[in-house]
Amino acid sequence: MTERTIHLVADPSSRDTRKIRVRPSRQFATVQLDRDSYVDAESSRGHEQDLPADYLAAVDRARNAAMDRIRYEGYRGTFYWGNGPRWVDLCARFRDVEATVEALRTAELEHDYSKLRAIAEQLALPIDGWLAPGERELIRGVDFDSTPGAFLSFLRAKAAKSGLRLNGRATAGSVWVRPTLPAAQKQIREMFPGQHPGWVDRWTGYVESDDAPTRPWVGGSGEDLSRGAIPVQFQQLETLSSDTCPCGMRLRDIGDDDNVHRVHHADWSLGIRVPKGLDWWGDLALVTTQSPISWRRLAHRVARMPQREDSYDFPSWSHLSEPEATTDNYRAYLLKVDECVIGYVAAHDTNEHRRWDHNDESPYGDEDDSLRPRIILIWVADVYRHRGIGATLVRALATDFGCKVADVSWSTPVSAAGRRLARRLSPDGIWVS
Ligand SMILES: [Zn+2]
Repeated sequence: MTERTIHLVADPSSRDTRKIRVRPSRQFATVQLDRDSYVDAESSRGHEQDLPADYLAAVDRARNAAMDRIRYEGYRGTFYWGNGPRWVDLCARFRDVEATVEALRTAELEHDYSKLRAIAEQLALPIDGWLAPGERELIRGVDFDSTPGAFLSFLRAKAAKSGLRLNGRATAGSVWVRPTLPAAQKQIREMFPGQHPGWVDRWTGYVESDDAPTRPWVGGSGEDLSRGAIPVQFQQLETLSSDTCPCGMRLRDIGDDDNVHRVHHADWSLGIRVPKGLDWWGDLALVTTQSPISWRRLAHRVARMPQREDSYDFPSWSHLSEPEATTDNYRAYLLKVDECVIGYVAAHDTNEHRRWDHNDESPYGDEDDSLRPRIILIWVADVYRHRGIGATLVRALATDFGCKVADVSWSTPVSAAGRRLARRLSPDGIWVS
């Protein structure tokens, strides 16, 4: 299907610019009424712009029915729409495009919403029947038309919306369902009826009739092992709650999008997996601002770990464009263990330092202007902490620069973990800057 535009008023001399655009995507088409310039022209004449409520209601019903149909036929993506007064969006299966354009045209020009309502009725699916209580086998071609897999995932989403557990299984030509209502979902819905308008419990207390079909046992799903089981009991307890995880992500994010926090937490805890195709010889890699981009990207990914953990505004590695030399020899050392980067030091060379004796009460001492490597940040993956890896990294920095460990300079403020490390490496005091 090709994209096209239909002018509502065909007369080219007309100044009425309202038009309908049909934009096909892979599985369906969007049918959009564009009233944008029309609204501007009407407002300049002082005319009311809002669309009538029954117009919007009819559009909503037609759109919801069409979205259900398209999902039912296997579409897994999302829909986007606006709802007037400047744009009115509908979606349609390709075969419904003509009827949808016509319904929108009549609604807009003649204020006749019956064709929109007819589309909603014609596309409506018997979802309530599918989700009725009781064990049933729904047959493809009899009870539904899409593929069993697509139908089952459509039905699961609908069941979840009603708080139901579907207990569904797709076979070659059918789908077995036994919708049940978990006690917790019943409670939530009865406590907040305003959030679930029209919801009625049809499932609690439903007794399966003796001639109900028997689902063939295929094993593995554990379905039959729960027959006749007694529901678990719940209690409310005061538990210690904290908002942030030690990795720096919000614990609540686990519910929002499980994977974001889990992936980050695994990296923070076990180290960042070295990308395939990166040739890494030895244990420690020295990445400069002139290294190949894959190395600088890896340094950046590692730098995001301490950035998140300690809520810094900026990562300690940001050189992600063309290779460029820096006057202070900015660099990162990456330590690899078992194909993961588990240690990181960002450092550069400077020549303004003061002496400090580790004592919180002491002021900074003598100034010193010799060129020293300065630690900007040290990070070690969580499970590798307290194993001397920080000390190894500082020694590597000193060796690489060609000085003693005690000559290294530490950027202030030195974190608590940094102070412990500094005291262990140079008990007589350190250089700070
Ligand atoms: Zn975490």
